[in-house]
Formats: sequence, structure tokens, C-alpha cells
Amino acid sequence: MDLIVRHARLRGRPDPVDIGIAEGRVQRIEPRLSGTATREIDAAGHLTTPAFVEPHIHLDKALTAERARENATNFFEDSIAAMREVKRHYTVEDVAARATEVIHWLVGHGVTLVRSYVDVDTIVGLTALEGVLAARERCRRLAHVELIAFPQEGIFTDPGTDELMARALDRGADVVGGMPFAEWLDEDARRHTDLVFDLARRFDRDIQMHVDESDDPGAMTLHYYAVKALREGWAGRVAADHVTALAAYDNAYAARVIGLVARARMSVVTLPGKLMRGGVRDREPRRRGITRVKELLAAGVNVAYGQDVIKDGFIPVFGTGDPLQVGFLLAYAAQFSTRADIETLYDMATINGARLMRRADYGLAEGCRADLVIVAAPSVQEAYRTQPPRLAVIYDGQVVAENGRIVPPDGGP
Ligand SMILES: [Zn+2]
Repeated sequence: MDLIVRHARLRGRPDPVDIGIAEGRVQRIEPRLSGTATREIDAAGHLTTPAFVEPHIHLDKALTAERARENATNFFEDSIAAMREVKRHYTVEDVAARATEVIHWLVGHGVTLVRSYVDVDTIVGLTALEGVLAARERCRRLAHVELIAFPQEGIFTDPGTDELMARALDRGADVVGGMPFAEWLDEDARRHTDLVFDLARRFDRDIQMHVDESDDPGAMTLHYYAVKALREGWAGRVAADHVTALAAYDNAYAARVIGLVARARMSVVTLPGKLMRGGVRDREPRRRGITRVKELLAAGVNVAYGQDVIKDGFIPVFGTGDPLQVGFLLAYAAQFSTRADIETLYDMATINGARLMRRADYGLAEGCRADLVIVAAPSVQEAYRTQPPRLAVIYDGQVVAENGRIVPPDGGP
């Protein structure tokens, strides 16, 4: 074995086990593994699980808060305008340095699977993409990072973006993104969605979009998107993020849409950071800015959660890249209060995100990729309650972080 993790506490198993790892894979899981390995770690009875998944972050925008004018109104459109000014001044190295730092934060917290949106529009062209591609290359031994070509400014509201998205997919973006709500007309939001599917077909890619990120019950792209996925044969290859308008629909219409989302095997990503900007036009009581998380889960929809923003023009003050912190926030917002709820929450940060990214060899079982995290807690519930250090993070069978610090694997970073 290359690595043995001893006395690891796995979810759903009362007694600690040893995990034998070789060639980047989990080879054996037994109560007591005989023999030795090149390296051994004593997990000392702490929680050991597949590494976390961050399915929705904006690496290109992260850590720009100091450059953005503050948004005292809290209106979403004012944040977009503030970031529009910031991104005009991006350089490739500037983006690369910030994205690299945030990937390090993520890995330090036990995340080794990442999906990041990257703005692609006529303001930044492909500069943000080039920067995040460079960061991905610098961190290739630490984490698997996938990039979503993201038309933040809309496609029909920003002519030329469709061509740039195609170039981004050629250049190294993995997933086709979308932002239908940026369009001026409902009809354009549908054409936007159509165009995203055209690109997905042309490049044979999955789709992940910001969908109905609004409190407006008139934002109804989710319905169209689910039907489109079914008709285009893209079921299981689509994800919808935020879908906060779903919470504003009346219950009958929401149930109809959720049924179609389930049928299209669409994943949903909920972003509790949106508590900061949800319901900002409401008088009291205010809406929460998240979707119908429990109803989606009850319908069998694959729901994950994500960080979204780390200190940029949208939320300048917070963001650490720790899925336990984000999940803690979500637990309160979505009213996850039972032990079973908290187990579901942990699934959302791990296996549900991996399912969204269609990583078939993800998990903690013999034959799976050895991408693991050891959390200094005895249980999932205590992990969320105390958000303790990650004792070790293992990626591709090698220790890449200890107690939050990056440890470059053998052969350099
Ligand atoms: Zn986002």
C-alpha cells in the first residue's frame, strides 16, 4: 500500500476501520489491516469520508471585494453592476493568483472536487477563463476543477457572447453555463436556454445554469429548462442553481415544476449565502432567498449546496470555502433539525455534488478514487456543530493538506 489510514470512523459503521490506498484508489477497508505502507496516518477515531464537493463557486470573482464599490441597496442588479466595473481591469495573472489562493482554501477544508463558474462576456472576453485555467493547472495535484462558461451579462443583452462561449468551450471550459434571467424578455430567456442546449449538443457537454435567481414568481425558466432537457435527451446532464423563484410560486405550480425537474433527473444547487440578498424588496417578514430544498429532496431530486461567493462584489464580507460553514447556514435556513436531516446535509456536500458532476468512481468503498477527508469530529452532527479542523485531506491517494495547510504531494505542487 502507498498509504494506510488507521482507526478511521466511517459514516454508518460503529467501529473504526483501516483504509488501504494504492495507485490513487481505495484498495481495502478492514477492521485491522496487516502490513505496512509507505505512509500511515492515525485518524484516531475521527470522521473519515469522501472529500467534499464544491459544485458552485466563482473563482474568477473571488477576493475582489476591496476593489468593488459597496452595495448599500443589497439589490442583485447593483452587485452585478459593481462587478462589471471590477472585471474590466482583470488580467490573467490577477485572476490566476486569486483563484489559486481560493482553491488552496477549499482543499484545506477538504474539498477536492470543484465546479467553478467563469464569466465569459464582451467585457472580459476570455481573460477570466485564461486565469482560472492557469490556476487549475497550478493546482492539478490538489483537486479536480471543472469550469463552467458563464454568460453573466446575458447572451442577447450582450451580443457576441454566444461566439465567446463557443471559444471558451474550445479553449478548456468543461460545462455550458447560462443566465437566462439576465435577458429582458421571457421569450429571450427561452432563446437563451435554447442556445445553451445548442452549444451542449455541439460540444457534447453537460449544462449547469443560474436559474430563476429571483424572488419574482414570474421567473419561470426552470419549467422550460426541465422540459427542454427531456426533449433534447439531456436528462441527467443538467443542473439548475439557486431556483429561488420556485419558493415564490404558488404550491400547485411549484409541485408541477418539481415533478418535471425530478423527471429530467436535473440536479439543483442551493446557495444559502443568498440569505444576504434574498427577499431584499420584501417588507417583513422577509423571504429566505433559498429554494424549496426539502420539497425537492422529497421528490427525489439530487440537491447539493455550494459556497457561491468568496469576498467579491456580491458578498464582500464573508466566505471561507468551508462546506461545513455553508452547510451550517443552510441547516438554519432550510430548517434541517433532525439527525436524519443532518446526515442528508452531509450527503449534499459530498455524494450529491459528485452525482451532479457525474463522478462514477466517487465514494469510500473498495475501488473508489482515494479522495478523502478526515474531520476532527466523531460524527457528522458534531462536524457541523463545531466546524473543526480537517486533520488530513487526501487527493488521488496522496495527502495534500493537513490541519488546513497545503502539503504539496510528492514531486511538487
Ligand atoms: Zn453563482
